[in-house]
Amino acid sequence: MTDSDAVPTAPLESRLRAYAELLVASGLNLQPGQGLLVRAQTEAAPLVREVAEVAYRRGCPMVEVSWSDEGVTRARFLHAPEGTFERVPKWRADGYLAMAQDGFASLSIASDDPDLLAGTEPERWATYVRTWQRANRGYMEYAMNDSIAWCVAAYAGRAWARKVFPDAPDEVAVARLWDAIFTAVRLDAPDPVAAWAEHKARLEANGARLNGRRYAALRFTGPGTDLRVGLADGHRWEGGGAHTPDGVPFLPNVPTEEIFTAPHSQRVDGVVRASMPLVNGGTVIDDFSLRFEGGRVVEARAGKGQAALERILDTDEGARRLGEVALVPVSSPIYRSGILFYETLFDENAASHIALGRAYPTTVDGGSEMSDDQRRAAGLNDSLTHVDFMIGSETMDVDGETADGRLEPLMRAGEWVD
Ligand code: ZN
Ligand code: ZN
Repeated sequence: MTDSDAVPTAPLESRLRAYAELLVASGLNLQPGQGLLVRAQTEAAPLVREVAEVAYRRGCPMVEVSWSDEGVTRARFLHAPEGTFERVPKWRADGYLAMAQDGFASLSIASDDPDLLAGTEPERWATYVRTWQRANRGYMEYAMNDSIAWCVAAYAGRAWARKVFPDAPDEVAVARLWDAIFTAVRLDAPDPVAAWAEHKARLEANGARLNGRRYAALRFTGPGTDLRVGLADGHRWEGGGAHTPDGVPFLPNVPTEEIFTAPHSQRVDGVVRASMPLVNGGTVIDDFSLRFEGGRVVEARAGKGQAALERILDTDEGARRLGEVALVPVSSPIYRSGILFYETLFDENAASHIALGRAYPTTVDGGSEMSDDQRRAAGLNDSLTHVDFMIGSETMDVDGETADGRLEPLMRAGEWVD
């Protein structure tokens, strides 16, 4: 936890430069001659400019920025005419796909106000997202398959900072959020690029250890949770870094603390209670539980945001099934910071989690080369959506279930057993 009125040790400008270098060098591992697509809010322009300069200096021929603006977005969902929300910028999706086909790396910078869409008609956003995800499916296939280098990072936007630190004046809230981001991404280390290489190797060793055990399922138990998550046939644990088909390593998320794999879409049973709120499309869903039968959510109850939770589940048939299970110990720096970020990039790296919706093809052996039918047969879930939510905490135990039904302790009270 940062001090309430802590003054940043270095001016923001020089820390932004170091952050941009980390994202381009370690996050994307941008190669000379490779183009770069950046998706960002206008508020994040100071970081986008630093990223562009770093990229061009490394031999990037073109940085293409796809801007959004929160004020413009909010205006649309408040005031645009009824029945117009299935209109999505298809040209944007076409452009993303063309850039992916051209080998562009992709950086996405999250800075969103968690309450951006408060007071708007939720069905508008749901319609928009559904249509957009369908239009953007070609590009998503490239990213989720690691066919291109991609990285998700963050920028401390003002409204976001206010949500995370509601009692501090705006300037202090923004400074504290930057401190929290820079700590989480190890920018405080003397050599952040070296610190990331070491951290990545640790995560990869953990994934290799679980790959050796070939568990049939994971069992989660804790207050309000008794869940068996069957794993996909030929599942692979991933974590730390990914690599492109050419073998270029990159970091899909900065920060990352998770190792994750593919649940079997038909073999999830029991009840799970979320351990943190879920922010989805500008709405907060809190105090919620899901009950699974044969892989499918058959009951969903939320103390807050019930309608938003049901809209996620109603996206398509695959949105009722799991596409990811991830283990994160409570000793992770993000969990220990005690900060609820209201941003999945950070919150999913605070605790163990599961995701409704699409699975990563790379989480089963040979999954990248499989047809849709082969992926389905292996148990990989398919959906237009992928929504992570946290289930890990200091009261969660996790066991690995072997093929012959024995349970081996993996985590106790949220921490690795070994
Ligand atoms: Zn995850
Ligand atoms: Zn996920």
